[in-house]
Order: sequence, then structure tokens, then C-alpha cells
Amino acid sequence: MAERDAITDPWGARTPYGPGDSWPVRVDSHLADGVRAEDVDRWVPSAAVLHSNGDGLEIAVKDGRIVGVRGQADDRVNHGRLDPKDLYGWQAGASPDRLTTPLVCEGGRLVEATWDEAMRRVVTRSRELLDEQGPSALGFYTSGQLFAEEYYTLAAIAHGALGTNHVDGNTRLCTATAAAALKTSFGCDGQPASYTDVDHADVIALFGHNVAETQSVLWTRMLDRLAGPKPPALVCVDPRTTAVARAATVHLAPLPGTNVALMNGLLHEIIRNDQVDHAYVEKHTVGYDDLVQQVADATPERVADICGVPPEQIREAARLLGGAERLLSTVLQGFYQSHQATAAAVQVNNLNLVRGMLGKPGAGVLQMNGQPTAENTRECGADGDLTGFRNWANDDHVAELARLWNLDPMQIPHYAPPTHLMQMLRYAENGTIRFLWVSATNPAVSLPELARVRSILEQDRLFLVVQDAFRTETTEFADVVFPAAIWGEKIGTFTNVDRTVHLSEKAVEPPGAAKSDLDIFLDYARRMDFRDRDGEPFPAWHDAESAFEAWKKASAGRPCDYSGLTYDKLRAKNGIQWPCTAEQPDGTERLYVDGKFFADPDYCESYGRDLITGAPTEPDEYRSMNPDGKAMIRPAEYLSPHEMPDEERPFALITGRTLYHFHTRTKTARAPELQRAEPEVWVEMSERDAKECDLEDGDLARITTARGAVQAKVRLREIRDGVLFLPFHYGYWDTEATSERAANELTPTDWDPASKQPIFKTAAAAIARVEEDR
Ligand code: SF4
Repeated sequence: MAERDAITDPWGARTPYGPGDSWPVRVDSHLADGVRAEDVDRWVPSAAVLHSNGDGLEIAVKDGRIVGVRGQADDRVNHGRLDPKDLYGWQAGASPDRLTTPLVCEGGRLVEATWDEAMRRVVTRSRELLDEQGPSALGFYTSGQLFAEEYYTLAAIAHGALGTNHVDGNTRLCTATAAAALKTSFGCDGQPASYTDVDHADVIALFGHNVAETQSVLWTRMLDRLAGPKPPALVCVDPRTTAVARAATVHLAPLPGTNVALMNGLLHEIIRNDQVDHAYVEKHTVGYDDLVQQVADATPERVADICGVPPEQIREAARLLGGAERLLSTVLQGFYQSHQATAAAVQVNNLNLVRGMLGKPGAGVLQMNGQPTAENTRECGADGDLTGFRNWANDDHVAELARLWNLDPMQIPHYAPPTHLMQMLRYAENGTIRFLWVSATNPAVSLPELARVRSILEQDRLFLVVQDAFRTETTEFADVVFPAAIWGEKIGTFTNVDRTVHLSEKAVEPPGAAKSDLDIFLDYARRMDFRDRDGEPFPAWHDAESAFEAWKKASAGRPCDYSGLTYDKLRAKNGIQWPCTAEQPDGTERLYVDGKFFADPDYCESYGRDLITGAPTEPDEYRSMNPDGKAMIRPAEYLSPHEMPDEERPFALITGRTLYHFHTRTKTARAPELQRAEPEVWVEMSERDAKECDLEDGDLARITTARGAVQAKVRLREIRDGVLFLPFHYGYWDTEATSERAANELTPTDWDPASKQPIFKTAAAAIARVEEDR
């Protein structure tokens, strides 16, 4: 078993392998100082929760405490490997500043309260608002870090019992575009590819996906392929020269906000060189001719003018993509957090569709997730969509869900698309939403334009409930705070990017009076006395396993079918990919193997949206465009970003993540190794830009946009000229500073029209040295 310093050596030693071979096992582990493997009382199965990769691991327990982790050698996702956050992040659970009792707001201060008192306040306010204004006065904003059982319960309470349309997850910030792109192209969410495609691909193309930092164990898989015989070619699209870019065969560094133009240029070349799989396109897709027309003028020279990428690099990348025999494409925030997010991500789907690169080993698309359980937020319906990838615009789907829940279909809101988070904020701002229940997320740091977000959350008329393991910037605005149990302190399932379901067992008791999110939601439901049509308590389930059994029924027959799974089956073999049914008891490695999609008009999750305006496609329009449920090739024209650099603010600001932290660092800052690795916010810029601004490495600089300012130390890095990068993890809970630290002080209230994902990649910014610094 390998113990390494994962801060200085995040990816560990190479275990090279060749195409079609099995990725060798390498078991990583980290135990608390002085604890040896033989001292451990129990090893408890689970998977990683500080990123979306789903690394299978075991939690080491000694004397009722978590004392470390080790990778699971036979896990299909990681073959034993763990990344820095996996290895060190578990320490946060034992922090002395965990929330251990409910808090309520008294005279402007949070004070300790009993569960009865805290719940009484929440139930009383819910009832008052239901009487006064109806269900649309209540909104729920959840996470990408709960378990499937918890999301399903929340969806059933919000959509079913209460009947509000205002439900979303912080997955809106990261994977809303993944879902929207998959729905647009394939009629339904669900990743076509599998991680095992890395083992077979001859070209891996990463679009706005810094896999080395966001899913670093997946990157070790790629590094091991690169170190082995017949390595794949890598195409990297990223304005920063990341570790991925340095390893790439071709690195394209487009100006932020120009991804659609770049993709159109690549598609133009592939079509011009006739590297299209015409038989596949003919048999399995609609819309190809529209694409041909759209990209006809997108020559490398024209595209180069927009993106700032040399035409010969575009040709070189297109040559690799067009010549690939097994092309694996992955996409993440560089594409998702832009003004044309869905349009750009869909062009990646188009690339694989025109090349016939789906459903076979090494060929597929991964529209990546950012968070560990984001897939469950979406499939269970806690992001506002209907449970089980059902279509809110299809009355039969609504009726089916109502039957399942034994509720009146009219109780499930489907008069309009689900309200996305940014719209919910607006409703809270204008007083339509008066009650907001936030679980396992920290909007006071992670949402754009923080000054505005704070002004919304601090309103007296908004009753704010926050459920978390720690006090955060958001709890400070709350009327009621519920202390939540976290990973290792509760049981449940979650699903990673490539549809792998893990069971995470309870290893230790939660501290004090903290409870699992599931127990908190169910407690609320009982106290609200929700009933189904027969007068029976709703939801009908009472613990994690009964919630899972209920979720299985809700998913049966849908694309994300869990009906073939049980807790016991996952105990025997953890890590099984959905759909898992009686017919496919071992799960499903790849979707769309037979060229059949979930896009039939009667079955699809969505009729799609216009990629430019975001307007929902009408059912009839969809039916006439795609009567046979084929994959849809949807072109898009390039539009320039809404906020362009100018004389006053000459830089394009992008925000993003670092390897050592997750979200707003509520957990990772409490793991000493991770916090020491990156304790403070910084700003990256190119050497040339720094020189022009009279800045040097290490200078304290002030970055400003039309919304606010942030102070950060300058790091000179290989990043394209004209671009600034700020990590977004840093808020205010662990600093004296009360302003100018969080990157989202700078970002705009703006979003992609189709996915409603906020834009974090294209803000016009200025930078200057803080004078007193030198
Ligand atoms: S850091 Fe933001 S974008 Fe990334 S996974 Fe978390 S919520 Fe999503």
C-alpha cells in the first residue's frame, strides 16, 4: 500500500499500460499520524466525496473515530488510487467547530436551540406562507453532495407534498450545462461513455476540462496511458497552460467566451476533409445538413480571428479529431460557465456524432460533473427537473409520477419549466419567494455578484433555513440552522460521472445532535403532516434503505434505471453503473451501443431549448423534427460575450478551482495538508501582461470589475495574454477580511440561455498593484 506526500506528488507513480489492457492496480492510503493499518478496528466501504470522480475507498475507523482512508483495489473507477482531497479531506469531520446543535436567530444573533424549537419555527413559517401565498412562496436550494436517497426525498417533498416549482441544486453552477447538452443532443441526461474508454481511446480530447485538478485520479489513468505503449494523442482546449495542456499533443488556448467559434472551426475542417461517418449520421441522427450549413464559413482563418488561436493549430487539432479511430471527448467548466455554454458543449456532442464515435470501446462523450453526487441531484429531481429524468412538459410523465407518489397530478407543478436558481434569487429579491431552505451549499460565496446575493439573503422578509456541518458565510444570514451529518456519518448511495453507483456506509456517529439530511427532511415532512391521496403519511419511506427502494421504483423503466440494485448487492460489489435492471444485472458500461437513444418524443426527458434564446421547444415541433427519437445534431452560431474587455477593463477574468480545495473550503480548509497547500487567494496572469501593468510575481494586486474588487497575490503563469485567473474557493469565514477576497465579488448576474448556468468565465476586469505593497 502506497503512502505518498500527495501535496507535492498529487498523481503518484506511473503504472503504464497499453490500449485495451486493464489499468494496473495501485492502492493509495493515508492514516492519521501514529496509526498503522493493523491498528484499525474496521474498514468501512464508501467512495470519494470531494470531487465527481467517485473513487472507491474504505474509511479506517479506530475507537469510534475516522482515522484515515485507503483506496479500493477492485473498484472499477480508481483501481485503488486516491487523490489529495481523498487522502486528507476526511479530517474535516472531526473539526472542533462542527455544528452540533440547531441554531435559531434571536435578536440578530444565532443561539442554540433544541430540534423541536428549530423545527417548530420552520414548520410554522412554512404553514403561514402556504396559507398566505401558496407553495410558490417556498424555495429549496440544495447541493451536489447529498446522497440519492436525500435528493429523492427532497424532490418528493418540494414537488409532490408542497407543490412548489422552486427547487434547484448548486449543480446549476457546474453541471446544468452537462444535463442541458445531453438533453439537447440525446433527448435525455446520462453520460454515454465510461471511464474504461480511457483504456481504449486513441485520441482523448478535453474541452475546458482541467482533469488534472478536477478529477485527478482520472488524470492518473490518462497519464498511465500516456506512459504506456501506443499512447493516445491528447487535444486540450484551455486558455491556461495546465498540466493537461503541457502533456497535450495539441493545446488550443482560445480567448474566453469563444468556444462556439472554435468548435465550429473544428467541425468545418472535419466536414471539409470528409472525415464524417455518413452511414452513422444517416442511420442515427437528424440535423446534419443544418450543421454543414452553419459551419460552412467557419474556416480556420476566420475562427482564428475570433479565438486568437493560430489557424494551423486549429487544422492540427481537427486532423487528430478527424483521424481518430476511437475518440473520447470530455467537457467541463471552461465550456459550461460561459455565455454560450450549452451551444459549445453540444458542438462536442456533434463532433462525436458526425464521427460516429459513440457506444464503442474508446469512443464516447463525458459531459463531466463537478461534484460527487451531482448526477443524483439531476436524476432524482432535486435540480428542479422531474424525478427519474421525466419530462415536465409531457403530461403522461407527470401523471406517472403522481401515480407513484399517490398524489393528484395537479399538485406536481408542471405549468412552466422548473425555476432555476438565478430566477429563484430574483423572486427572493422581489419578495415572491419568502422562504428559502439551503442544504449543503454556501451561496454567500459561490454565487455570482456577491454584493447582490448578500443583500438578498439578509432581507428580513426572507426566512432562511440553512442545513450544514459548519457555520459558513451563508449561515450568518439564517433564521434557522440545522446541524447536518456528513460523509462517513450516514449511509446512502451516490453516482459519479460515468454512472457508477456506490454505497457509502456509516462509519461513525455524527457529533452532538447533528442528523443526516435525510432524517431532517423526513422530520420536516412528518411535522408538516404531509399525506397522500389515501391519507397515508407522505413520503412513505422512513430511512435510507426504504428511501432507496422507493427511488428504485421511481427510476424503473427510465434511462437511469436502478431497479436491479440493492444495498446488499452493492455490499457484495460496490460500484455498478446504471442502468442496472433484471435484464442487465451487472449494470451498463456504455449507453447508445446500438445507436438507439432516449430521444423518442414520448420517452425523452426534454424537448430541448433554442440554443441562442433558451426558449423551450414545443412538443409538436420536437415530434416533427425528430419523430423516430434519433440523436440530434444541433448547430449554433457564435455570439460574442456579453461583457467584452475594453480600455478601462482590458482583461477577461475567469474563475475556477484548484487541486487542493473544494467549493468554499468548508471541509478542505479544515484538513491541514490541503489548507497549507493553498492557504490564500491568488491571481494568475501572463508575464507580458504583468510587465505592462508594472506587476511582479508575489505583488499584492487589486482586481476590479463593474461589480466589485478582490485583492490577491500575483502569480506569473503560462496563461494566455489578456486573461486573469482567480480561484473561487476563498470567502470570509477564516479571515479577518470582510470584503475583497471572494472571486464572486467580481462575477456578473448572467447565465447561459439554455442551461441557466451562471457565467463565471467572461467578466471584463482591470488589475493594478496595491500601492502600499512595495
Ligand atoms: S466548484 Fe463549483 S463548478 Fe466546481 S463542482 Fe463545485 S459547484 Fe460545481
